[in-house]
Amino acid sequence: MEIKKIGVLGAGSMGNGIAQVAAQAGYQVVMRDIEDRFVENGLKAIDKFLAKTVEKGKMTEELKKGILSRIKGTTRMEDLKDVDFVIEAVFEDLELKRGVFKTLDEVTGPHVILTTNTSSMSVTEIAMATKRPEKVAGMHFFNPAPLMKLVEVIRGYYTNDETTQVVMEMARKMGKEPVEVKRDTPGFIVNRLMIPHFLEAIRMAEEGIASIEDIDKAVKLGLNYPMGPFELMDLTGADIALHVTEYLYKELNKESKWSTPTLLRSMVRAGKLGRKTKGGWYKY
Ligand code: NAD
Repeated sequence: MEIKKIGVLGAGSMGNGIAQVAAQAGYQVVMRDIEDRFVENGLKAIDKFLAKTVEKGKMTEELKKGILSRIKGTTRMEDLKDVDFVIEAVFEDLELKRGVFKTLDEVTGPHVILTTNTSSMSVTEIAMATKRPEKVAGMHFFNPAPLMKLVEVIRGYYTNDETTQVVMEMARKMGKEPVEVKRDTPGFIVNRLMIPHFLEAIRMAEEGIASIEDIDKAVKLGLNYPMGPFELMDLTGADIALHVTEYLYKELNKESKWSTPTLLRSMVRAGKLGRKTKGGWYKY
């Protein structure tokens, strides 16, 4: 069945970015959040992003209008009843996501593929809230979704080949480069590599091996990464890094390499680090 209309759950940072990417690829989009103000904020963020693109001469005003006209914001779950494909991007909370998938299973047609943008949680556990776990997969975009090329496509325990192929193809149609994650492993590929590099950087700073500035500098100049671990944590949120670390520790059999450095935990708890405290590490 041809996919024409996409449902996006959540109008936050990832949800609005994904809705924009889908509309840019020509799809009709229904973006749902729980309150009008969240929907409005999401639509405003898309407008602002596209306005900047027009300003830079990379898009015409006409094209921008067309993209915005394809996105319908809503708070009503029933508005997703005729979508052909779903991408969920609500808060990273397993029970919340399972509840959303249970409702999606009831509201959408039985043929519809349901995907989750979870950064680390079990796709299988989310899928089991539905009666169609073979049609559920992970579709992990990166932040900011309109700019980042990668999409990890994650197979849950029951995800079938057809679903995987459709999700890979959808990512390509949305201008992304998909990679297939064949097993439902916590953190998938990128977070499983990124988190240990954050943790080791924090441990080095804690042990006084080098300054935060010099660790970032070493990684940029020695490994040719565009950002050092502390800069990257400031961008993506050290609170999220802490949350994911604690989850990976629990899920990956409490191996010590995943244990949380005291410095990370205490700074996040003290409100010194988080998405709203950019540059937090450099003040340490
Ligand atoms: P966010 O806090 O910016 O937005 C989440 C949105 O979900 C909020 O607007 C909230 O009101 C909404 N929401 C809550 N319950 C809902 C429901 N039942 N129906 C519809 N909307 C609901 O969060 P975010 O950063 O966009 O993250 C969303 C998901 O994407 C999480 O699973 C996160 O792990 C994942 N993710 C985040 C990033 C990132 O860097 N921020 C990157 C990749 C993946």
